[in-house]
Amino acid sequence: MSVVREGGCACGAVRYRLTSDPLFTHCCHCLNCQRQTGSAFVINLLIEADRVEVLAGAPEPVDVPRDDGSTQRIFRCPTCRVAVYSHYGSSRVSFVRGGTLDEPAGVVPDVHIYTRSKLPWIALPDSAPAFDEYYDSKSLWPAASLERLQTVRDSARSGA
Ligand SMILES: [Zn+2]
Ligand SMILES: [Zn+2]
Repeated sequence: MSVVREGGCACGAVRYRLTSDPLFTHCCHCLNCQRQTGSAFVINLLIEADRVEVLAGAPEPVDVPRDDGSTQRIFRCPTCRVAVYSHYGSSRVSFVRGGTLDEPAGVVPDVHIYTRSKLPWIALPDSAPAFDEYYDSKSLWPAASLERLQTVRDSARSGA
């Protein structure tokens, strides 16, 4: 059963709906995410970009520098500037920020990543795997999510 989730920025100008469950949910403890959020980690729901339906407002892309010299495109409310989702590399998969959901408790991270820079006072749960850096999605993602990702890649290849 797929759950429809909605969320938005702080001022209410940007509202979005996720039209299906995410592919996978990351809790990222890397230093980039710590700096971007001003907090200990970020919760990212990975989902096909066309399954993020913007109901109100026009999230504005901002290219934000990362420690490795690359940039990450973060989409923000043009009014209150809260970040609602971002793109890493491909624009076909959006990383929706879990804290902007109307019900943040409705999502539990499937994996904890970059725990090498995890703040030392955070205790990770036993319920999700954790990795020092990134991980092998092929071995961790459910088959249905891998199929969905393949569909995204195939449509990218055909230029659709
Ligand atoms: Zn706003
Ligand atoms: Zn990160």
